Amino acid sequence: MDAVLSDPRAAASEQLIGRALLAELAGQVLERWRAAIKAQELDARRLSGLLDAGEPWQTLHVLAQRERQQGLVRCVNATGVVLNTGLGRAPVHEQVAAAMAEAARSYCVLEVDRFTNERNQRDDRLSVLLSRLTGAEAGIGVNNCAAAVYLAFQTFAGGREAIVSRGELVEIGGSFRVPDVMARAGAKLVEVGTTNRTRLADYESALTAQTGLVVKVHSSNFRMVGFTEETPPEELAALGRKHHVTTAYDLGSGLFDFADDPQLAPLLGDEPMVLAAVASGVDMVMYSGDKLFGGPQAGLIVGRKETIRALRKNPLYRALRLDKVAIAGLEATLNLLLAGRAAELPARAMLAASAEALRPQAEHLAQRLVELGFTARVVAGESQPGSGAAPGVYLRTFVVEVTPSSSAAALARALRECDQPVFVRVQEQRQLLDPLTLLPGDAERLLGSFAAVRSTR
Ligand SMILES: *Cc1c(COP(=O)(O)O)cnc(C)c1O
Repeated sequence: MDAVLSDPRAAASEQLIGRALLAELAGQVLERWRAAIKAQELDARRLSGLLDAGEPWQTLHVLAQRERQQGLVRCVNATGVVLNTGLGRAPVHEQVAAAMAEAARSYCVLEVDRFTNERNQRDDRLSVLLSRLTGAEAGIGVNNCAAAVYLAFQTFAGGREAIVSRGELVEIGGSFRVPDVMARAGAKLVEVGTTNRTRLADYESALTAQTGLVVKVHSSNFRMVGFTEETPPEELAALGRKHHVTTAYDLGSGLFDFADDPQLAPLLGDEPMVLAAVASGVDMVMYSGDKLFGGPQAGLIVGRKETIRALRKNPLYRALRLDKVAIAGLEATLNLLLAGRAAELPARAMLAASAEALRPQAEHLAQRLVELGFTARVVAGESQPGSGAAPGVYLRTFVVEVTPSSSAAALARALRECDQPVFVRVQEQRQLLDPLTLLPGDAERLLGSFAAVRSTR
């Protein structure tokens, strides 16, 4: 063991993973050799041959490299699902990424006003920008939309009652269930209406002296059709004002506004918009930063000044608040939106891309894959926004269909395990590659990985 570890050929592996883990891996390699010797599968001559060939160090280096490939690494999203939660949802704009990197590596003006040199709140500026963008009086940022929901329930309905429609007690995915979050926030859930219909009168008759919050939740990842009725936020807002009860609207996806985007307006038609939700008059509106909003992960809450102030005063806010990197990214995203540059945000650009514009990219990819020896052709396809945003909305696209001679699942796996991991959509025995979700440089990365797994084709 000492000879293996102190050999210069172990140095590069030790640099990668450290001495302790290297020793553990070396122990496993040597243990396999001992077992092989016992089973008389390895004799002295072959053993010294292995050592002469540098065998244990090569194996250790492969194991060390595999160890370092674990965890968060860049990948290519060829699934066509724009807000792919498993792959990190919205990729941010270059300028946003640069602002985040700069904040991470340097000191920054976080909780001080550099013009007065007085302490301030880290998201004061965020609040100003959110107000300008949405028309709300104030805003606040927390870790994600689940945290926003938790903070709102805890602040206004902790130890009290919260009224929610039976049709809106949704599970968003990743085990985020609205009723569970409410319970953990100490709110007593009062369900009103039926699964398919909830009217204003249902809410009104459930109001008691214990009511702390009336909440509307966007159903996000499913749609009800047929004999349905939901209460519009305007009516809930009026109800809250009449009875002095706080009202909230959990939007989730946070589609900002597509008034100036003729391609997206019809596509995402019935997805509720932040601006309309704020204008409805509810006391607060919450949504994710990294779904249709197209920014970094965050939960954004905008609404009335006093409502936001109450959230900020809750000691739990400290546990849920944003870090400097996320704030830098959100401010940069909001600045782009305020400058009228929404169409440049990668996620929004993907959603707005036309099938015709994607076709040449698909054809180029197919041709290059054929040159690599794969069976590939371009077919018309459909992709989804993802993250429970705009279900039932299918984005027209052209995809590359790869038909592997062996198994599509085996090829997909080999591609995931590459140095430059690629995620594809597997449909029966075919692989579909969607140029819709490829970022600049991704096509070359993807082709590099296909070249590396050619033997699995
Ligand atoms: C997605 C979603 C959430 C959770 O948002 P995260 O940012 O993932 O925490 C909460 N509420 C609704 C309605 C959602 O769609």
